[in-house]
Amino acid sequence: MIGTDILYAANLLTNGELVAIPTETVYGLAANAFNGAAVAKIYETKGRPQFNPLIIHSNSFEKFLSWGIQIPEEALKLAEKFSPGPLTLVVPKGNKIPDIVTAGHPSVALRIPNHKTCLELLSAIDFPLAAPSANVSGSISPTSAQHVYEQFGEKIPYILDGGTCSIGLESTIISFTGNTPALLRLGGLAIEEIENVLGKTLDKSKILNNENPEAPGMLSRHYAPKTRLVIGNFEDLPTNLKERKIVSIRFKDYDKHIPHSEQIILSKNANLNEAAQVLFSAMRTADKFQADLILAEKFPETGLGLAINDRLKRAELS
Ligand code: AMP
Ligand code: MG
Repeated sequence: MIGTDILYAANLLTNGELVAIPTETVYGLAANAFNGAAVAKIYETKGRPQFNPLIIHSNSFEKFLSWGIQIPEEALKLAEKFSPGPLTLVVPKGNKIPDIVTAGHPSVALRIPNHKTCLELLSAIDFPLAAPSANVSGSISPTSAQHVYEQFGEKIPYILDGGTCSIGLESTIISFTGNTPALLRLGGLAIEEIENVLGKTLDKSKILNNENPEAPGMLSRHYAPKTRLVIGNFEDLPTNLKERKIVSIRFKDYDKHIPHSEQIILSKNANLNEAAQVLFSAMRTADKFQADLILAEKFPETGLGLAINDRLKRAELS
């Protein structure tokens, strides 16, 4: 059922049920993080590998501290500047957070979402919400209540509707468990902004080194439509692919080789934030064309363009 009743959602969560929640990044599949049996339902419903830890959400850092989580000074500095917002901080977990939430890691991932309905829900409960994206593991993340319903229907007791996500990409994840802050996932907050506030460069070896990913969700094919997706330009496609039915996802203008009706432009104004917001719904729309191939343009390697290219690359893996 889809609805807007925050107290109903809070009651279900208190009773160990799952609720899909709106955030500014993507919709989450939430459970009471202190209730191991409820958290187990998240893994089961998503078909998520047990080794992939979950982010916990609350409406204030005071609550995280009161739950025995230690937050290093540099992490607090980022939190002050960017929370609530599309930033997740990985910090030592303390001993109150169940191991099932962190998949046995000694650290926990924290976020305060910047979404009115979600913040009202979080302030109505006295426990954190463990919540990964509300989609079957590996598929496209949902950016509306309808997307969640299309995938799970009545399998989730309640989908709290908070409209379309304003950021549309998962959060940027920074780890504070080593000597220098490390980037674990590109996301809805540009790394340039984070580095400006920290006054130093992030350690980026953790995302570049795919052999040993510290964020396990970063390894495999992910964010993937059902149709095969290829990144590049029409000219560079092999001849056999040029002859197939192609739908194209593009940044700001049309490719002259493909009919306009078979192209999805993400931002006519050439705005990367706007493009990021509609990327996942564009992938869903592209899937509905039932083409042989989704041809996605490579985006500029700056700001959220880096995160968009990251998602496209994972969708391309097969
Ligand atoms: P999702 O909730 O699907 O957006 O995925 C959350 C991401 O955060 C996954 O890629 C996890 O691997 C990562 N993550 C969550 N907790 C931790 C942690 N304690 N250490 C490192 N990465 C984490
Ligand atoms: Mg996910």
